Amino acid sequence: MFNALIVEKLEDGTTSASIQNISEDRLPEGEVTVAVDYSTVNYKDGLCVGPGGGLVRNYPHVPGIDFAGTVLDSSDARYKAGDKVVLTGWRVGEAHWGGYAQKARVKADWLVPLPEGLTPRTAMAVGTAGFTAMLAVMALEDHGLTPEKGTVLVTGAAGGVGSVATAILANLGYQVAAVTGRPETADYLKSLGATQIVPREDLAETVKRPLEAEQWAGCIDAVGGAMLARVLGQISYGGSVAAIGLAGGAGLPATVIPFLLRGINLLGIDSVMQPFENRKRAWARIATDLPLDKLEAMVVPATLSDLPQLGADILKGKIKGRVVVDVN
Ligand code: NDP
Repeated sequence: MFNALIVEKLEDGTTSASIQNISEDRLPEGEVTVAVDYSTVNYKDGLCVGPGGGLVRNYPHVPGIDFAGTVLDSSDARYKAGDKVVLTGWRVGEAHWGGYAQKARVKADWLVPLPEGLTPRTAMAVGTAGFTAMLAVMALEDHGLTPEKGTVLVTGAAGGVGSVATAILANLGYQVAAVTGRPETADYLKSLGATQIVPREDLAETVKRPLEAEQWAGCIDAVGGAMLARVLGQISYGGSVAAIGLAGGAGLPATVIPFLLRGINLLGIDSVMQPFENRKRAWARIATDLPLDKLEAMVVPATLSDLPQLGADILKGKIKGRVVVDVN
């Protein structure tokens, strides 16, 4: 028997989440059973702990789009009992039962062995948000970004993706301008390595001029919407924007002018279906390029019983940094 946060659909169409003690035979099919040590809270988790946002297919459901833990048993030769593993993506926590439980059963293909230097707790302090931030840094580098090219803008900076992106970029020697709608997080963002704080209002207005002064060598964008559209017009010649999120909206009220006259690139970043080799590369880079003291400064500790509230908070943009959920 083990504890899990189970979300049930009620007759009136709403959902209710509660911690239940359930037996292992209720776990879904999969080759590897994992004793979950830690999970975390992402924007999608906020949706799945509540009414689902269209992501959850079947109820009762165990949310948690990522987890790290220790293999209990495996019918796949790549894993054996005692191995430390991390999982993000593959629609775990949405279409498949996820990490808000003391045990999980998943496909071996979905797991990544924890690289040296990371524990299950630090891996979940990073979580899907930090993993995706690393994918964005790698994509910008693959498109020619170097610290000499100029300042990199990070939007939604005090959130999970933004916090980790800021810390990694600063550690790699980049000047980082952090966009936030919460001025009270300025000291926190500077402690992560931000060299400039940009108030959200400065980028809130929709595009009036398709080209503005060239200000940023690159951008990691967690916000989307009107802010992303404005940023495109401020990117330096040949620079790139890594689009990760839609915390500010899914629309893109932009013009093609910056692409045509400045040769800029918009790079889409997907963490869910990312191939195994690139996952391994990103986790290895996290282990070397993200300073653990800065990661620790982002951590907000939590337990399974905190999740309904934290899920609601992340949907309102009220979470600072990275929540680490001790499921035990
Ligand atoms: P968080 O809620 O932790 O961070 C989002 C941040 O965006 C907030 O903290 C806030 O930053 C800012 N923000 C929120 N609402 C608005 C708004 N209306 N306008 C402008 N800024 C706003 O979420 P995560 O960092 O975990 O995720 C960020 C986004 O990335 C989400 O949309 C998520 O779905 C997406 N995502 C995508 C992935 C992928 O594979 N592509 C993987 C992981 C996440 P501040 O207070 O500093 O202004």
